[in-house]
Amino acid sequence: MRHGVAFVFIVSSLFAASRKPADIAAELRRGELDPNECYRVHDVALERGGDLKLYLSDGFLIFGKPVAGRRVSAIFTSDTEGGDAEILVLPPSKGERLSLGAFTGSPTLSEHFKSGLFLFADDTAEALATEIQRRSSLRSPDRGLLLAQEWNPILGNLSGSFSIRLIQHLAAEAPPTRGVFYAALQGRKLGNFDVSYDPDSQEQIHVGQLKYKDERPYYDTWTNFAARPFRTGTREVAGADVELSNYRIEAVLDADLRLKVVTRATLQPRRGPLAVAGFEITDGMTVKSVTIDGEPAELFTRDSLRANLLRRSETILFLATPARPLEAGRSYEAVFEHEGNVVRHAGRDVYFVSSRSNWYPQSGTKFSRFDIRFTYPALLQIVFPGELKEDKQEGNHRIMRRVTASPIRTAGFNLGKYESAKVSRGVLSVELFANKQVEFALRGPNIDVPLPAPLPQGPGFPRTPGGLQRNNRFPTLPTALPNPTARLQTMAGEIANGFEFLAGFLGPPALPQMMVAPIPGTFGQGFPGLVYLSTLAYLDPGERPAGVRDERLQVFFDEILHSHESAHQWWGNVVTTKGIQDDWLLEALANYSALLYIEKRKGSKAMMQILDQYRDRLLHEENGAAMDTAGPIRLGARLQNSLVPGAWRDIVYGKGSWIMHMLRKRMGDAAFLKMLGDICREKRYETITLREFQEYAVKAMPLKVPDRNLEAFFDHWVDNTGIPTFTMTTAVKGRVPNVQLTVTVKQSGVDPRAAFQVPVEVQPVRGKSQMHWVTTGEEPAVLALKLAAAPAKVTLDPESNVLATKQ
Ligand SMILES: [Zn+2]
Repeated sequence: MRHGVAFVFIVSSLFAASRKPADIAAELRRGELDPNECYRVHDVALERGGDLKLYLSDGFLIFGKPVAGRRVSAIFTSDTEGGDAEILVLPPSKGERLSLGAFTGSPTLSEHFKSGLFLFADDTAEALATEIQRRSSLRSPDRGLLLAQEWNPILGNLSGSFSIRLIQHLAAEAPPTRGVFYAALQGRKLGNFDVSYDPDSQEQIHVGQLKYKDERPYYDTWTNFAARPFRTGTREVAGADVELSNYRIEAVLDADLRLKVVTRATLQPRRGPLAVAGFEITDGMTVKSVTIDGEPAELFTRDSLRANLLRRSETILFLATPARPLEAGRSYEAVFEHEGNVVRHAGRDVYFVSSRSNWYPQSGTKFSRFDIRFTYPALLQIVFPGELKEDKQEGNHRIMRRVTASPIRTAGFNLGKYESAKVSRGVLSVELFANKQVEFALRGPNIDVPLPAPLPQGPGFPRTPGGLQRNNRFPTLPTALPNPTARLQTMAGEIANGFEFLAGFLGPPALPQMMVAPIPGTFGQGFPGLVYLSTLAYLDPGERPAGVRDERLQVFFDEILHSHESAHQWWGNVVTTKGIQDDWLLEALANYSALLYIEKRKGSKAMMQILDQYRDRLLHEENGAAMDTAGPIRLGARLQNSLVPGAWRDIVYGKGSWIMHMLRKRMGDAAFLKMLGDICREKRYETITLREFQEYAVKAMPLKVPDRNLEAFFDHWVDNTGIPTFTMTTAVKGRVPNVQLTVTVKQSGVDPRAAFQVPVEVQPVRGKSQMHWVTTGEEPAVLALKLAAAPAKVTLDPESNVLATKQ
């Protein structure tokens, strides 16, 4: 009988017939286990992606019935005398080990589990069958019947929520090497958690857990890294199957704010033949139909909260099966009809777009031209990027068409009953729109309209959150309602000044015209040619609700937010990243670019005050641990987890700014600004990775300085946590004119292997002071100087060039 196992699999894959996504989905939903394929297993080993190692030491393994001719599921249970199984994952980097340690208490994952549910589109079935045969495992159909009864509903549920990737793979008949592997494990100590290997993802190995804290779901990513073949360069990520570009969008906004859209785009398969193509869109939109080259494609769409949290996005994946498979190298015309309620009313004629970056179908990361035509109620105004091509009124409707002169990453829109002011600076222009009234949420204690929640979101379009928690209820305002248009002209001029300043060293922005329009809430968001700016930023500081009256938040809404979003015209929209894992870098660059503008306008003291606040926040303790210790900045959006939810903000924006500031101080102002400009010029319409950014930084460093390749720098500041404390002692020996000054600098409070470059200023009694950089490490730094006379003063890091605790 043993040989029968392998035989069944071979036969089934030989006769795998192409099926439609809907049929595959129905088979998956049935979630039927196959009692005849149940085995008593001992020491069955399964390794996926080189880094996930599972040992089914003792228990029962049952396969699901074939779906689309292939085995795609299995259940293991150790529910038997002496039953056991274990998973082993050893993350390859310090940052990942830190992360895993924070969630599980150990830098490596070695967890025994009671049961495991496996879903796969790769060769897992074959690998398990080989092991079963090798271990002479006995078939156990009786136990199989019991297990099927117990597990069928669970399998049906779970395969439902994770099905779409599986369905895409099966329907496309993609090779098993590109197939995803997913396991839901019931850990003995760690509870239920997910493990996956997805060769199409940028970082293929993922281990995490869905967790609720304060009634809010978080997806805690314990570890997520590139699998061995990808790390060592023997394999490359395949990327999206199809690219959409050359968008032509016809959007009609009803009087009831329902948006009905026909999106036309050029579709280019990157491989083929493709039986099925996948696209992403917000879950707020219903896709009604897809045609490819005029022929209807069959549509399949479904997703779940868990799968979305796992992807850290608010988009759903939908599949289109064209009448004929798509060929690589050809261009097709794709037409999508979709509609949904992505426009919301926040009260008092204040509107907002809830799905700003994904209201039309997308695939791939191509920069594209956009030709957008909006038809909307004439009482409203709609702003969106591009040059004006048409603007007319027909009855109660207004029609506006705009075309972008150059390719952009994404096209957003905003709407309201606006007043506006336009300011030009050479080829650049800024048009600022303000609502005539403030939304209900800003009115008083009785009405509380939920604000758009700062949930995690797709790559490249991070929102900049304010310092408020979600669902913060604003306390009562002064009796008179604030007027969001009062400062319109001044603000427009101010934003234009910042935009022009940034273009001075970053080069041409995504689009030369930037529109800025309000969004209810406490955040901003920078899209190409269109910035969403918190309503609070429009208000006079004295008119802001009490909750945002503190100094730090006033500075945030007055000075940082608009320049930060303007800086995203470059960071994220001229240069972008391959995926969400490097997005913190864009945030750090955008925020520090904003600080550079504040420095230019108000002097370095004003900028240092903000950096000081960031330092205080990073050192601020919650539950006995400083915010900084929540995790290395390299984890980026993953820091939005259930452990210390707010720390993400302090680390990505605060520490991120400090990292840029420290680099600037190491390389000098001119070299730093040149580096930023070089990145924007050389990487225009391209992606940048952390490694590439480090290469740019190394190139900008002066020759012959310690840690010139910035290895110690990136190792500590990006991949580790900890803010050092430096203590300096000085000793003076000898007498005029042969004085020996010895300065000793010790570091503490950090990984002892970390090393830092710290400046020491020696001020002679007469004449100019001298700056000396020393290297601290496991051993204290010792600076020995021969001087003519004892110095007047020796100061450690007088200008705060290094992020450290205050002395
Ligand atoms: Zn941002």
